[in-house]
Amino acid sequence: MTTLIQNGTVVTARETRQADVLIEDGVIKEVRAGIPADSARVIDARGMYVIPGGIDAHTHLDMPFGGTTSSDDFETGTRAAAFGGTTSIVDFAIQARGTRMRDALDTWWKKAEGRAVIDYGLHMIVTDLAGAGLEDMDELVGEGVASFKLFMAYPNVLMVDDATIFRALSQTAKNGALICMHAENGSVIDVIVARALAEGKRAPVYHALTRPPRAEAEAVHRAIAMAEIAGAPVYIVHLSSEDALNQVREARDRGVPAFAETCPQYLLLSIEELQRPGFEGAKYVFTPPLRPRKHLTKLWDGLKHDHLQVVSTDHCPFCFKDQKVLGKDDFTKIPNGGPGIENRMQLIYHHGVNAGKLTLNRFVEITSTAPARIFGMYPKKGEIAPGSDADLVIWDPNAVYTISAETHHMRVDYSMFEGFEVRGNARTVISRGEVVVDGGAFLGKPGRGQYLKRMARGGAWK
Ligand SMILES: [Zn+2]
Repeated sequence: MTTLIQNGTVVTARETRQADVLIEDGVIKEVRAGIPADSARVIDARGMYVIPGGIDAHTHLDMPFGGTTSSDDFETGTRAAAFGGTTSIVDFAIQARGTRMRDALDTWWKKAEGRAVIDYGLHMIVTDLAGAGLEDMDELVGEGVASFKLFMAYPNVLMVDDATIFRALSQTAKNGALICMHAENGSVIDVIVARALAEGKRAPVYHALTRPPRAEAEAVHRAIAMAEIAGAPVYIVHLSSEDALNQVREARDRGVPAFAETCPQYLLLSIEELQRPGFEGAKYVFTPPLRPRKHLTKLWDGLKHDHLQVVSTDHCPFCFKDQKVLGKDDFTKIPNGGPGIENRMQLIYHHGVNAGKLTLNRFVEITSTAPARIFGMYPKKGEIAPGSDADLVIWDPNAVYTISAETHHMRVDYSMFEGFEVRGNARTVISRGEVVVDGGAFLGKPGRGQYLKRMARGGAWK
């Protein structure tokens, strides 16, 4: 099966040019102006950008948390992702304490199998390195799990101590995997939280007020220092504050291989959302929390100047009506997480490119090419060149779209960006040569998404 995308403007992280894209058997065959159509199926992209499919390197589909489960599974979540122009995700398998990482990998493969609409990789969340843990890490790298996430927050649930973090970092110095850190000082935060509860402070906004930016910055600083001692790169997930950003920038300025992602919610929303009347603020309870407005411009600057390398979503939806409500009388019981997998590309394009904060090429880089490189998928993903997978989005820069829970495809009863109007949206979404979304219609099939076996020693090591 041959497909020719004609008359479009091809945009990669490096360049923008008029070119046609020829696809054969799911792979890009040729990229140049004036490719003859011959017998190929032709997709006209006049007036459109042709960009590499988005890669969301941080999602939580079908994830157990605090007695409930995130409301999107691998089918509904990846379908929503595709609508928004994302053609690969990297989700997280979670090692349960006292069990092998291998078991968690099998569990998450089962969750995805028969459901995923687009390709998916898996990071492994490490909760326990006692016993055979370090060899388990090597085994997982062999299975294409080229990154591990550790928590410096959530004591007694997910948090690991510094010795465990350092052992894991040291192991990656040998096996070439990448350690991702949830960087917040969980022990300090727990004391502040207990104090707030004792004072009767139970509303959603206290979720944010008990997790100060300095608690994030301290953990980022510590994570980077431990990585330096271990001789390994480190990647900070969902960085939310200027304080934390300064730590990453300072390290990078010294030539340390420290990397970080942020998310649309930290770029566009602020702590005021948690003060909405009634229990509405619970819709914005996730970790790290939203920050005061002054942080937002700093994060945009960080993206522009490559102090931040990636925009992911940390998509972890819980329905307002029957899940967020678990914390009605106690903010610590509100399931942590928010929906966003569908809107990442639209929001970053509109508020980044249209607003003049990011170039078109930088937009492609932070939403696709950089995560592909850093997480060992490049050049199979994140590139428009012969030999790369034909994961492509035909992007209409003039399409006007209003984000709303009424019309979105995520299985959740609210949107964090309700009423946001964006200009620029995915028109046609192609995954390995197959059109999965076209003009608002879903044409993909559950189960067609493939597991992405990722390579160790990805971009963070170079
Ligand atoms: Zn997360």
